[in-house]
Amino acid sequence: MREVIIIGSGPAGFTAAIYAARAGLSPLVIASSVEAGGELMKTTDVENFPGFPEGIQGPDLMMKLQEQAEKFGAEVMLDDVVSVDLTGDVKKVSTGYSGDQEAHTVIFATGSAYRKLGLDDEERLSGRGVSWCATCDGFFFKTKTIAVVGGGDSAMEEATFLTRFADKVYVIHRKDSLRASKIMQERAFANEKIEFIFNSAVEAITGENAVEGLTLRDTVTGAVSELPVQGLFIAIGNDPRTHLIHGQVDLTSAGTIAVDGRSSRTNLAGVFAAGDVLDDTYRQAVTAAASGTVAALDAEHYLAGLEQAAAALAAS
Ligand code: NDP
Repeated sequence: MREVIIIGSGPAGFTAAIYAARAGLSPLVIASSVEAGGELMKTTDVENFPGFPEGIQGPDLMMKLQEQAEKFGAEVMLDDVVSVDLTGDVKKVSTGYSGDQEAHTVIFATGSAYRKLGLDDEERLSGRGVSWCATCDGFFFKTKTIAVVGGGDSAMEEATFLTRFADKVYVIHRKDSLRASKIMQERAFANEKIEFIFNSAVEAITGENAVEGLTLRDTVTGAVSELPVQGLFIAIGNDPRTHLIHGQVDLTSAGTIAVDGRSSRTNLAGVFAAGDVLDDTYRQAVTAAASGTVAALDAEHYLAGLEQAAAALAAS
């Protein structure tokens, strides 16, 4: 049986792995078969991770974190966790291909998943003009007219990036002011290819085999209009990925994993959380990494406590 299993391979998961490995706990990182590396694998320039004054590409940063974790003895498994049983002293983690894994502790660093608009045609036209990832799909929209929905940093980042390819990028936001940070807003406002449509919600996506347009509703007047576009990028935030632990681990009203104060301790002994799965406020690569550190240290203390209890029992 292992000491630590870390589920998730973003900055939180790999930083937890670096600390746990350096503590001699030989952690197993279950990194997902298709989404290993997490959100940063879909990002281009990361300009705000300390230590990289010139910036670093998201995938390069994740490769370095993985390399650092492996250097100290972490094992990385490219597999998907399908279910967990965390209630007992021995934690069971079942994977799609590699069978069941067992450990004394589990660190949940599963991050978050793209939020969807919930429209009928969103899934149908996914990959046919509807996308959640500008860095993955932007190239397909050379000289096209497209739209980005959302008013946060992600929407600004996606819209700005997409102007490398598209002739015109509309940013559609349901309010009259943006949530994005000032620097990201200013960058988008200064870009001549970007036009903002405020107070508007996307009501429908039209097109038979590919996106041809959007039906917009004015959120103030209720007026409905059509906007011809060939692509729609959805950047309206993320939801914590907690489906594996529903019914076992307590969640907050925001849907993140509930932890004890500033620690990573969940309601279950030996189960810890790190990164975006417990944070709906800061959600930065560097805060996720710091949170991974906290989880690894908490797991280490918990394991030391188990060892002491076992030694005391043996001596009595
Ligand atoms: P946010 O939650 O910050 O913003 C989501 C945006 O989408 C809001 O404007 C919100 O509207 C809108 N929205 C949410 N649900 C819907 C819906 N159903 N229909 C229409 N609009 C909707 O998410 P982000 O992904 O933008 O950012 C998440 C975190 O990541 C933030 O902390 C951000 O700072 C960080 N980030 C940092 C970057 C950087 O520094 N380079 C880049 C990208 C993200 P409303 O405002 O009305 O609530």
